[in-house]
Amino acid sequence: MEDVKVILLGPPGVGKGTIAGMLEEQTGAAHMSTGDMLREEVKKGTVPGKEAEKYMNAGDLVPDEVVIDILRKRIKEEGKKCGFVLDGFPRTLGQARELKRIFDEEGVSPDRVLNLRAPEHVIVQRLGGRRQCSGCGRIYHVRNMPPAREGICDDCGGELFRRADDCDETIRVRLRTYERQTAPLVDFYREQGLLSDIKADTGPEETFNEVRKRLDL
Ligand code: AMP
Repeated sequence: MEDVKVILLGPPGVGKGTIAGMLEEQTGAAHMSTGDMLREEVKKGTVPGKEAEKYMNAGDLVPDEVVIDILRKRIKEEGKKCGFVLDGFPRTLGQARELKRIFDEEGVSPDRVLNLRAPEHVIVQRLGGRRQCSGCGRIYHVRNMPPAREGICDDCGGELFRRADDCDETIRVRLRTYERQTAPLVDFYREQGLLSDIKADTGPEETFNEVRKRLDL
């Protein structure tokens, strides 16, 4: 099978993490989530983690240089293995330009940028009930995608947690942050002929079927 090299765009809660996990499982591509990487740094109490935490809790974007440093290392380590799925990066035009430079240095290029779309009321409902595994990172929803045993991951038995930024007030800030800083990337990639819109307002299986069609998987 061909390696997939994909960037996932779309607002928080649209399902990027879920779809990236499914793509990783099907193709072996490295799922690279800058949100997960930053949460890991926060948990370890590193200098970038301490810097990032205040922005994350407020629903704002972490400064470009902090995120880019973290991502650059990961792309160099894993980006060439079996392809990659970038989830939550880039989120600003500055990051998109830097990513292009990193790709050029590494001699790789993305096949496709998938823009996941769903109406805001669907997104707010998803974020409100979202839970994540503290062990493997798998994402659940208390109603739409519950685990077999409440609070416990089906895959690794890890404990599920609710993210600090998945509360009503921070959800609203994050959606506005997306509109202001990240939505312009849709045109940026459309102009390069790389963008495909994906309807992501139903279940993960339907969305994943769309994704597979677009990627010829
Ligand atoms: P996510 O898990 O993708 O929803 O990201 C959670 C939070 O991490 C975001 O609300 C931002 O504060 C921060 N974050 C993740 N990725 C980025 C990025 N590419 N640029 C800036 N901040 C980011």
